[in-house]
Amino acid sequence: MSSGFRREIILLLAGITLAVIVGSFSDALFETLCAVLAAYLAWNLYNLYMITRWLEKPGKNTPETWGVWNDVFYNLVRLNKRHRKSRKRLATILNRFQQSTQALPYATIVLNDMNEIDWFNPAAAALFNLHQQDNIGIPITRIIRPSVFSRYLRDKKFDQALEFKMLTRSLKLNISPFGKGSFLLSAIDVTERRQLDDMRRDFIANASHELRTPLTVITGYIETMREMKGDCDSLPFDRVEQQTERMRTLLEELMTLTRLEEEERPDGMEPVDITALLEDVYQDALSIDKGLHNIRLTTEPASLDGNREELRTAFMNLVTNAIRYTPEQGSIRIFCNTDKQGIHVGVEDKGIGISQQHIGRLTERFYRVDTGRSRENGGTGLGLAIVKHALDRHGGKLHIHSVLGLGSLFRCDFPLQGLASVPVPSETA
Ligand code: ADP
Repeated sequence: MSSGFRREIILLLAGITLAVIVGSFSDALFETLCAVLAAYLAWNLYNLYMITRWLEKPGKNTPETWGVWNDVFYNLVRLNKRHRKSRKRLATILNRFQQSTQALPYATIVLNDMNEIDWFNPAAAALFNLHQQDNIGIPITRIIRPSVFSRYLRDKKFDQALEFKMLTRSLKLNISPFGKGSFLLSAIDVTERRQLDDMRRDFIANASHELRTPLTVITGYIETMREMKGDCDSLPFDRVEQQTERMRTLLEELMTLTRLEEEERPDGMEPVDITALLEDVYQDALSIDKGLHNIRLTTEPASLDGNREELRTAFMNLVTNAIRYTPEQGSIRIFCNTDKQGIHVGVEDKGIGISQQHIGRLTERFYRVDTGRSRENGGTGLGLAIVKHALDRHGGKLHIHSVLGLGSLFRCDFPLQGLASVPVPSETA
């Protein structure tokens, strides 16, 4: 109990005692008691009235009073001061947040737990044509209408950025959850970058296509010249033939990569029997290898919605690499297993291995650990880029583990849900 309140009770008791004494002497005990209590009630009513007035318009100065009411006013003023201070601090933080988000080049939108717009910055207003009066509180799906965005919101896989087309523009968008059920959406217009990418892709596709015809003509001429050469040395013809073969492989891989980048989803999706597909890959591996390695296949029954040819190209690239980078008689294992996470298809070899610093870059186009060795083995530096793109389009991820001198594991991890979760590819390797 506070000292002010204790004092108040003592005073009240003293007043009542005095009233009893005076009342007993004057033979008017009841009237005196009523008078004292009425005075006390009036005093409290007066203070209640003052406090109500002060609360309607709190100021620095409180009404003059005493006793417990003085304590009440003192504490109210203190609370009011503290409240004003924290409001000021919050306003400063909010101001600073708004200033910094207004300076952001990214369109930034704050969404509530119902995915309705709570706040947006000028970049968002410009990008999505938003207006302060009309668009606060409306669902974001009424502004960003493509179904791929609604799916993204529903699936809540916000660790991946989403890239998609809206009318004539390409947008890249991120969502980060914060606070209690709020979301920060940031978006950027990547139309120009996309157009440049498209131009680059078209150029490579056209150039590769155009180069195929002269290459076929050259190959034809070499064959004719070889037939005409008689007893002359065949080495120059072999060399030219090797190089034209290399060029043909390079053009084909470039065209495959361009095709994989071009379309968002594989054509001809169908349930693919992975066991049967790996049996085919295994037979092809045996025929390419010509008995130089010990190749094994271990597989569990598995099926995946996808494009059989693309998956076959991806797995075949991994097997070809294992054959290329494993010394003769070394062992290579092609496998497929399933668990709660999904389907895992991989190739493990006891080959030359790769040191750690290269692993993060292996899926970049033309990235090779040892360019000379790769060329010698008929490599183009595009194999793993093709694998990555083919997997992206099937919702899969490439996992690489390798130890220099001991061997490598290349594993394709496919989620169980299959096609429903295939993301729109956003980045190129
Ligand atoms: P390449 O056509 O040169 O094989 P890839 O894109 O398929 O190109 O592979 C990129 C590089 O990764 C290769 O040049 C090679 O250095 C390395 N690599 C790929 N697979 C293996 C493997 N199984 N063992 C060792 N190195 C590998």
